[in-house]
Amino acid sequence: SKEDVQAFLKKNAFVLFTVGAVVLGIALGFALRPYKMTYREVKYFSFPGELLMRMLQMLVLPLLVSSLITGMAALDSKASGKMGMRAVIYYMTTTFIAVFVGIIIVLVIHPGKGSKAEFGKQQKIEQVSPADAFLDLIRNMFPPNLVQACTQQFKTKYGTRKVHTTVTVMVNDTFFNSSTAANGTQEVEVLEFTREEVIPVAGQVNGVNALGLVVFSMCFGLIIGSMKEQGRILRDFFDSLNDAIMKLVSIIMWYCPIGIMFLISGKIVEMDDITEMGGQLAMYTITVIIGLSIHAFLILPTLYFVITRQNPFIFIAGLLQALVTALGTSSSSATLPVTFKCLEENNKIDKRVTRFVLPVGATINMDGTALYEALAAIFIAQVNNMEMNFGQILTISITATAASIGAAGIPQAGLVTMVIVLTSVGLPTDDITLIIAVDWFLDRLRTTTNVLGDSIGAGIVEFLSRHELRSKDVEMGNSVVEE
Ligand code: ASP
Repeated sequence: SKEDVQAFLKKNAFVLFTVGAVVLGIALGFALRPYKMTYREVKYFSFPGELLMRMLQMLVLPLLVSSLITGMAALDSKASGKMGMRAVIYYMTTTFIAVFVGIIIVLVIHPGKGSKAEFGKQQKIEQVSPADAFLDLIRNMFPPNLVQACTQQFKTKYGTRKVHTTVTVMVNDTFFNSSTAANGTQEVEVLEFTREEVIPVAGQVNGVNALGLVVFSMCFGLIIGSMKEQGRILRDFFDSLNDAIMKLVSIIMWYCPIGIMFLISGKIVEMDDITEMGGQLAMYTITVIIGLSIHAFLILPTLYFVITRQNPFIFIAGLLQALVTALGTSSSSATLPVTFKCLEENNKIDKRVTRFVLPVGATINMDGTALYEALAAIFIAQVNNMEMNFGQILTISITATAASIGAAGIPQAGLVTMVIVLTSVGLPTDDITLIIAVDWFLDRLRTTTNVLGDSIGAGIVEFLSRHELRSKDVEMGNSVVEE
């Protein structure tokens, strides 16, 4: 009836706006392409999009810290231990499945044809050994200075910036651990990186040492949760901080459609001509799309259904806003505030679960990135006419998993951590530049897959933890809904 339609529109107006914004953004982008805007004009044009990015990123840090602390404090160590185990098992399993799908798909489709000629000019990329990257990851779990962990920035030859998190870079042919420059006194010149800015390798979000903050917040939350009456003030403080931030998120969400429209159209205006794309690169793009689709639309929903016995597509429909934001921003950490909103408000996931698993998921669980890195590494082997044996493929699957854990939830971070995967099996790292032309696009798709993986994980963990959550409710005297 008319009322139903009205009610539906009212309830879903927002999602419709955002989806409409994507469509409009694509149309606008293609309409403006013939005008061949200069770099500066494109920057002016996409300014509203840049603002959205900044607003979302602004919320990530307080949101991450307050949600983890309150999430951990709301559970006792036994319940959070169990929930944590389930989350970790889910992350590991789905990431491995993703890698497996990527490998199978690229072996079957075989997009690389053993010739590099059609890719055009190549650039030089520096080597980072897997061991260095791994140690950086562990180091960053323990930030020596919490304030600095929130302000990590870089120094590159493109401008002087301070380094507050550890990243191993090569300076004048020697490996250099940038933590020695952590106090901002020494300049690190990162040589040979052709990107505008070096993206840190190990566990950062928005240039912030997120992994370190995650570790700290989890421990801190667990402690104040165990402190009974004494910890009350701190619990209330972070609880109310979290609520306040979520209210801010609601306001910013109204700006989302506009921001996303300009982010997408700006990117389409500035992208290289697709008609000039070589055959191998086109095949590669299609292969990645197929791989990601299988993981996102087949494997994850099936897993969700098998475990919870509920319709996965209804669950995914509730996430639409977050998925579109991921597509627009190509950053799973910038999307985090929206993911929270969708899961808590549309899908009614328990806050104790979202607050606990989402920040961790956004930092370490990246199915799309893992799938992509394994697939890309084998593609590069194919282009170089190198057959990968079983041992090498196994190495790729392990390093791709590690590289996806280490990748920051920021645009194109996966491209940088891919150096680790390539070096582990002796593939030429410079060949990353073969796929740079399409990475901005594939990055958006893998980011969307990453966000979907985190969200379905929250749904599954909530389902598996329903007994603990209920008994905690009973203990706290909360109203309990009978099953
Ligand atoms: N952009 C991705 C994300 O934010 C990471 C990647 O580059 O794969 O999830």
